[in-house]
Amino acid sequence: MRVKKIAIIGGGTAGWLAANHLAVELRAEQDLSITVIESPEIGIIGVGEGTVPHIRKSLQKFGISEAELLATCDTTFKVGIKFIDWMAPAAQRVDNAYYHPFASPYPGGIDTTALYLQQAASTDFSAVSEVPSLADAMRSPKWISSAAYEGPVNYAYHFNAVKFGQLLAKNAREKLGVQHLQATLVDAQRNEQGDIECLLTQSGEKLHFDFYVDCSGFHSLLLGRLLQVPFVDKSHQILTDSALAVQIPTDTRLEIPPYTVAKAHSAGWLWDIPLTHRRGVGFVYASAHLTENQALQGLAAHVGVPADSLSPRKIPMKIGYREKFWCKNVVALGLAQGFVEPLEATSIFVTDLAAELFARNFSREKAGMAAAAAYCNKVVSYTWERVMDFVQLHYCISDRRDSEFWRLNTERPQLSEVLAERLEMWRFNAPKKSDFFSRFDLFDVENFLFVLYGMKYETAPRAMTMNEVQVFKSELQKIRIHEQRLAGELIGHREWLDGFNAAYLQMQQV
Ligand SMILES: Cc1cc2nc3c(=O)[nH]c(=O)nc-3n(C[C@H](O)[C@H](O)[C@H](O)COP(=O)(O)OP(=O)(O)OC[C@H]3O[C@@H](n4cnc5c(N)ncnc54)[C@H](O)[C@@H]3O)c2cc1C
Repeated sequence: MRVKKIAIIGGGTAGWLAANHLAVELRAEQDLSITVIESPEIGIIGVGEGTVPHIRKSLQKFGISEAELLATCDTTFKVGIKFIDWMAPAAQRVDNAYYHPFASPYPGGIDTTALYLQQAASTDFSAVSEVPSLADAMRSPKWISSAAYEGPVNYAYHFNAVKFGQLLAKNAREKLGVQHLQATLVDAQRNEQGDIECLLTQSGEKLHFDFYVDCSGFHSLLLGRLLQVPFVDKSHQILTDSALAVQIPTDTRLEIPPYTVAKAHSAGWLWDIPLTHRRGVGFVYASAHLTENQALQGLAAHVGVPADSLSPRKIPMKIGYREKFWCKNVVALGLAQGFVEPLEATSIFVTDLAAELFARNFSREKAGMAAAAAYCNKVVSYTWERVMDFVQLHYCISDRRDSEFWRLNTERPQLSEVLAERLEMWRFNAPKKSDFFSRFDLFDVENFLFVLYGMKYETAPRAMTMNEVQVFKSELQKIRIHEQRLAGELIGHREWLDGFNAAYLQMQQV
């Protein structure tokens, strides 16, 4: 039997990412329709505003112009994350901060980690890259003349989540022929094999499709509620479970940081994401260790306003993932499939990759689905496990002991076997590419190096030959020269965006 009609349930970022991926991968297929069904009553979560560079590849693949993304979604550039207060205060730590930039930790392609380890007490690991100092100077990652989706500094975006969803939707509908239906679903019917046969709407209609992509957010309507695919709970590894989110207008004359701020506090951390005209600020915390009122006070203190002047949205977070993401004739993507708290902006990244994986492995012949499902389920579970590890790393290697939350995270962390093994290995040998044996380790040696040594993880230094020391120093020197050259060439982030937006507006008026 051939699949002729695919339904995507949910019109959030996940739903429209899935629609674009499927429509692009299946564009040559005849007599196949893709329909996004979205409830007019149930809104989208609307908080996914930070991304990682992989999103550029997907947007290009969908045929979305970078200019439109920049002009219509209050978009700013993101060259990485600045982590503040993730360690106990210490005299030698300037601002008690470190960067995880979207950059290579190998200057000139060479692994200089051994040199850093020998000088760890007096050196910042992030000196292996030019990006942190350019970020501190709030430079744009692109030259004015840079081509779309390119720049001398690797980058992702911050954007308004609602507007980003609308851009994806417009592209899917207008360029890729995806259909759009407004309906609130209340149930679904299954056939004898247990496959979903049709969806039931609030107004009593039955909507028949051959395949269903569940992007219904935390509701997980089909995979979770109807098919009862078990949830792999990860709350023992990641202790944060709540967030308070607000939007704060910004003075448009001020410079825009080209990075996300992730600032730790006594029971979690807060994000500060700059868009062109506002900031998205969110206080992530463990409700077992902080009351909502204490979280509100912390949020207000960061924003610099009285707590009673803020009306943040409270968002409970369920940390974990569904044991299978593909079951019967249903695939779940986005929050319906899994979630780890927003540190490192993993959610849109995993959704994007899982959507692409599914679209590439999708077979219109139902007979071809079981094998694809078995393979994809293995891949996605592995991906989630390693993403959880990477997020937990930020907590478990800290030297903070100033609250029960930090003591639990650092003295009694519940680590996966893989992370425990890796951390033990890395006490004696710095991480290397070969420690990460799967391409589904979405965060690999490059990311781990910046976080581990940004947080001063202690690895025994190895001996170096005189020649190695010379080569390493020379490569690091070249980075400083390149950094100075770029600092002279790249203009301010705000200036770049203002100039671009003014030119874009003018072009629209011609
Ligand atoms: C606090 C927080 C901060 C985050 N920050 C980031 C970040 O910085 N970066 C990042 O990558 N990700 C982040 N995320 C995750 C990000 O928000 C999501 O990955 C992204 O928004 C995708 O959500 P979604 O489309 O799965 O769900 P939603 O946006 O919730 O969309 C669900 C859709 O399903 C529809 N729906 C639900 N029930 C029904 C029904 N009965 N009938 C019909 N339709 C229905 C709704 O109408 C809606 O269209 C964050 C998440 C949280 C909780």
